[in-house]
Amino acid sequence: MKPPLRVLLVGAAGRMGKTIVDLAKDDPKIDMVAQCDLGNAIEPAMKRSEVVIDFSHPDAIEEICRAALQHRRPLVIGTTGHSAEQRSAIEKAAKTVPIVFASNFSVGVNALFALTHRAGEILGRDFDAEIIETHHHLKKDAPSGTAKTLAGILSKAQNMANQIPIQSIREGDVVGEHTVIFSGPGERLELSHKASSREIFGRGALRAARWIIGQPPNLYSMQDVLGL
Ligand code: NAD
Repeated sequence: MKPPLRVLLVGAAGRMGKTIVDLAKDDPKIDMVAQCDLGNAIEPAMKRSEVVIDFSHPDAIEEICRAALQHRRPLVIGTTGHSAEQRSAIEKAAKTVPIVFASNFSVGVNALFALTHRAGEILGRDFDAEIIETHHHLKKDAPSGTAKTLAGILSKAQNMANQIPIQSIREGDVVGEHTVIFSGPGERLELSHKASSREIFGRGALRAARWIIGQPPNLYSMQDVLGL
């Protein structure tokens, strides 16, 4: 039997971090060898791991990329809300180490990405597209990374450069809801995904961590992991 995968988790004290720690406890294929949060040095912890999972804050990314390049470790990045400069640090690192960077690790949302692309192609410019996303009130970034990914998919599918309107709602303890609305003359089509547990993102991230071992350097999405 293969030895368990040695994982470093960054953002371990957060909502997603705790979910992943709990999932890993029940998973014999995962050995959580190191956990970092605000104030912990990432580089020494990385030495002991084979792969890094990051669900923390965009400001951690430069330190994570620097250490990953030094130790040649693959990265699974779930954090959202990076600046253009921070995204370019990720793209640069992906030339040397493999990175899965996904705004959403759930299988259902990745199906929503594929369905949105297809609906955008079928309905074309006669339909106006709009996105509504709802999350718990502690979420730091708005719009969500998933809503931005959906907007990018729609612009591509409808071959339009103009901005797709995104409505962000922050209320209660909503884990994450995304709806894409296509409004045309006399009809509306809505595609909706509702997450009721953070475990879906955690399970997806652990699946991505197993998948990325042995992949050549590149920037991958969850669609690549799922073979969509
Ligand atoms: P959270 O605020 O509960 O947790 C973030 C944790 O990161 C905290 O414990 C915080 O102390 C820590 N942290 C902050 N700065 C850090 C730094 N510089 N170094 C190390 N740790 C640091 O947030 P959350 O709900 O767990 O979400 C974390 C991130 O994951 C957010 O960006 C969120 O949007 C994203 N997210 C992504 C997915 C996905 O599927 N990709 C799903 C859920 C959440």
